Amino acid sequence: MHTSSTSGFGTGKHVAVVGAGLAGPVAAIYLARRHDLVTLLERHPDPRRSAAGPGRSLMVILSNRGWRVLRELGLERAVRRICSPLTGRCGHLPDGSTVVTPYSRDGAPIWAVQRERLHRMLLDAAQAEPGVRLHFERPVLEVDLDAPALLVRAGEAERWIECDHILGCDGVRSTVRAALVAKGGREEVGTLELAYQEIVLPLPACDRGLMHYWPAGDALFGAFPMVSSDLFAGSVFLRREGPGPSYSAAAGTRALAEQFTRLFPEPARNIPDLRRQLATKPVSSLRVTRCDRWVLGDRAALIGDSCHAMAPFMGQGMNCAFEDVRTLVNCLDREPDWASAFAEYERIRRSDGEAIAEISYEHYRTMSRLPDARHEAEEAITRRLVGLMPDRFVPLYERCAFSEESYRSALDQDRRLRALARRILNRHGAAAIDLPDPRLRECVSSG
Ligand SMILES: Cc1cc2nc3c(=O)[nH]c(=O)nc-3n(C[C@H](O)[C@H](O)[C@H](O)COP(=O)(O)OP(=O)(O)OC[C@H]3O[C@@H](n4cnc5c(N)ncnc54)[C@H](O)[C@@H]3O)c2cc1C
Repeated sequence: MHTSSTSGFGTGKHVAVVGAGLAGPVAAIYLARRHDLVTLLERHPDPRRSAAGPGRSLMVILSNRGWRVLRELGLERAVRRICSPLTGRCGHLPDGSTVVTPYSRDGAPIWAVQRERLHRMLLDAAQAEPGVRLHFERPVLEVDLDAPALLVRAGEAERWIECDHILGCDGVRSTVRAALVAKGGREEVGTLELAYQEIVLPLPACDRGLMHYWPAGDALFGAFPMVSSDLFAGSVFLRREGPGPSYSAAAGTRALAEQFTRLFPEPARNIPDLRRQLATKPVSSLRVTRCDRWVLGDRAALIGDSCHAMAPFMGQGMNCAFEDVRTLVNCLDREPDWASAFAEYERIRRSDGEAIAEISYEHYRTMSRLPDARHEAEEAITRRLVGLMPDRFVPLYERCAFSEESYRSALDQDRRLRALARRILNRHGAAAIDLPDPRLRECVSSG
């Protein structure tokens, strides 16, 4: 028999949210505005009580889906103040040339924000919400989906907390997902071949209205302007294992710095303490996950990285997690029975989660790839098609970052566009890039 923690907290539903990362506080606020008690449990200490950890300069991108949620929660204006707008990305190619790709055709920006600052703001907002009880240093050790109840550690003590519903916002190593898997769900958890380190650097010659990146085949360096300083927050992505450039191929800080300088000479020139940063900043893995069961009856539902951790290159993981929460709450608004609402949420979102994970990984290939003639020709034809029929063909990035179209539909539409570009290229060769507009239209009509 588990002991209940609900006494004294009102008479409505008690929802336990596991994990106060980026999605957990958002879920807690939405639910507290609909129900009278949300317990938000986080295993780590309160980040607002400590200085930012070493190397924690990571910037994340907020795009339309994320803003929609922040607006609904009344947080948009406050968050906007700590963001900087970016209208495109600038690739610095090995031959010294640069190529700027606008994020949208109408010049609309995406917004970069330091993850730590956004996280603190979300925690403040959740804590200020009547109905949310936020507890740090409370790891959930076990999940009983039959009760339902959570075994939580507090200091030396462990105790069961009963609740009506559980939301797993506990990230890629989710304990709630493990409980669903124990009930017959299947998960795939993987680590990408890439690892990354955060490197802070000045880039005085770089436009602060753009994200900058340096592709090097199997490696990539990307940098975002920081809002609170003149510096850029960079991340170097390298394979963990060789044979090419990798963490394992460069043993020791000196070899790592030499490898970095060889791959990324331009940024390297701007980092006087490169060796120190490479030696002291943590090397983080990139974990990905998918799971074929996101919910169990009216007991539990997974949100965010717990069910769809993805490669970070589209800047959609958090945006997607926020949209998960909004979708779930919309389902609850339409469907007072929680089991039906959870089932509807899974029906709508699982396919989208899988689609954006696929898109994100492919986007890494696009950004890290060194120029090759065939790919450039395909891209050029795709751009022509998009320019020729802007209502029919919308770039994939725009569909993900500037619309709320289902990610699955965005992926399907993009596949069709790329298949068409490939067919045109196969039929007409490189001359296809310069086909007159009417001829190109004919190619579209004839498929
Ligand atoms: C390098 C990088 C760059 C990224 N850039 C972007 C970007 O530009 N835009 C974007 O949208 N997304 C980006 N992302 C992805 C984004 O960070 C994640 O998708 C997002 O953090 C997911 O939120 P979450 O709440 O689901 O998981 P998390 O933020 O990981 O939070 C999970 C929380 O659960 C807690 N927890 C775990 N287990 C337990 C337990 N048993 N008990 C209690 N607490 C527990 C953890 O401590 C953590 O606080 C990036 C990710 C990386 C790695």
